[in-house]
Amino acid sequence: MRIVLFGPPGAGKGTQARLLSERHDLRHISTGEILREAMENETPVGREAKSYVEDGELVPDDVVRRLAEDAIADEDMGGFVLDGYPRTLQQAEWLTAFLEKEDASLTAVVNLDVPDEEIIARLSKRRVHTETGENFHLEAKPPPDDIDDALIVQRPDDQPEAIRKRLHVYREETAPVRAYYEGRATYRSVDGTGSFEDVYGRIETVLEETAAPARAER
Ligand code: AMP
Repeated sequence: MRIVLFGPPGAGKGTQARLLSERHDLRHISTGEILREAMENETPVGREAKSYVEDGELVPDDVVRRLAEDAIADEDMGGFVLDGYPRTLQQAEWLTAFLEKEDASLTAVVNLDVPDEEIIARLSKRRVHTETGENFHLEAKPPPDDIDDALIVQRPDDQPEAIRKRLHVYREETAPVRAYYEGRATYRSVDGTGSFEDVYGRIETVLEETAAPARAER
């Protein structure tokens, strides 16, 4: 299966991608995670990306494309779930051309629909485990007591000013990607509110629908 998880920051893409990758044995490719790792390791890409990521801006296409291209191409075109990619029309067009070249296609593009107020509430209380990358929420999913407090941090781009910027960037630059996929048979939008297991159940239903024609063709 090849899945694109789409939606605004804080829609739950990371959590759902993690579940999908565990339960369907898919590679979880998060361009945000790859960028954060590069920043931590202070690689040339990391240094180039840092100010964009911390300010809540998109990292330039050519940088992200190199990272995504490497990560996807690495996969021998096996199963993957893309989390946070594509985020611009140019990235979406690149992905389509890349898959065509490999004679492969997407099983599903799933949009997670979450209202702005809920996004702000989620992101401002989000905390991240620095080593595992697991997300917590101070109220809905607090970090367990046995985790060292020093390992639980707030992402700089989860500060209020950066959240506002990311929502603006999403509307301006990323929402057109939704229009790009909307007319396709593999596109579905699901309600991204409620418990993560509820949302996961909705995604599973979508996958059953969108994977069915592909099975029938074989
Ligand atoms: P995320 O963890 O997906 O919320 O991504 C965090 C940040 O990484 C974003 O706010 C962007 O600065 C950057 N980023 C991640 N994926 C992309 C992408 N596909 N295109 C451009 N910038 C990205």
